[in-house]
Amino acid sequence: MKITDVQAIIVKQPEISIIGDGSQDTVVIKVFTDEGIVGIGEVDSSPYVVKAIVEAKTSHMVCMGLRDVVIGEDPFDVEKIWYKMYELCYYYGRRSVAIHAMSGIDMAIWDIMGKKLGMPVHKLLGGSFRDKIPAYCSVLMPDNEDEIKRIADTYLPQGYTGIKFGWGALGQSEKRDLELVHMCRKAMGDDPKLMIDIGMVWKDYKTAVRLCNEFEQEDVYWVEEPFKPDDLEAYKRLTHSVNMRISAGEEVGTMFEFNELIDKCGIDIIQPDISRCGGITIAKKVIDMAYLHKIPVIPHAFKTGILMSASLQVIGATPNALWLEYCCQETVLSKNLVKKHFQIDSEGFVNIPDKPGLGVEIDEDILKKYEVK
Ligand code: MG
Repeated sequence: MKITDVQAIIVKQPEISIIGDGSQDTVVIKVFTDEGIVGIGEVDSSPYVVKAIVEAKTSHMVCMGLRDVVIGEDPFDVEKIWYKMYELCYYYGRRSVAIHAMSGIDMAIWDIMGKKLGMPVHKLLGGSFRDKIPAYCSVLMPDNEDEIKRIADTYLPQGYTGIKFGWGALGQSEKRDLELVHMCRKAMGDDPKLMIDIGMVWKDYKTAVRLCNEFEQEDVYWVEEPFKPDDLEAYKRLTHSVNMRISAGEEVGTMFEFNELIDKCGIDIIQPDISRCGGITIAKKVIDMAYLHKIPVIPHAFKTGILMSASLQVIGATPNALWLEYCCQETVLSKNLVKKHFQIDSEGFVNIPDKPGLGVEIDEDILKKYEVK
């Protein structure tokens, strides 16, 4: 089997708001083969930059667009293809959006392999440790108590065992952050897990220590991304200074960066985003790194059903998985881009898909409706 073409299709809601909601647009990757099998993937990045990286014409031997790199390759050489992409886009690549774009192609190649063999991706990864996984509700932090209460009253009765409030109104001041976290705990009651994604707003180490200790009083389960991912020394000092679990990983890609966060910084929970980290090929290496350090893998996922399916496949194959991040932002794409979006059961679980490949089908009508040419 040979790859014959790669498409990067930009889809977006009509108006984009300047908020921390990555489900307002996306770029769908389709990888075509000479056997008629089409693999699908998704990238959480700037769709326009990703499209340019996929479609760029060859400049020289280590400066090629990803489409040119993968055409003619056998999808079952997925590991070899990953390294080929990494090497041949080296001039503009190595990190960030080039790795994001590679993630979407890699995801689609795993989808192709599963479809060809009639097996779900988790089977190709070595088998699933579970049939289902608990989901936590992931939303932006509102700026008022009524909306926080509405979210708790809406989602907890649906079965979610926890809520993560992130970005949004957080980061205005220490006092306000403490008030908001207190409102969340009050609205949720004592039992459900409460997570806070502070969204990289803390500017100094001492502030982070102080607020982590304060959040501990509200029984916050983890604090996510206290610093920018380059602030490795700050991460290292913080993880060694507080009891609070510190999570991170959604912004990083390649084994080099995950090794820094897990091994050198002592992160407590690692959150690879399968549509940014380098794809399923890198995620399976992160699973092993995390297992060595006895830390859970909870993939970051704040996009559509395509990324959710890839996350569920990886979660299935992860011995130390805890939760599925379930994006509860109600955009036109978040729950509608795939047919039969994943449902949560009354106990708060989502099934690991067992259909071939990623196990989802794009709703082509929705794709066409919101496609940007
Ligand atoms: Mg986050």
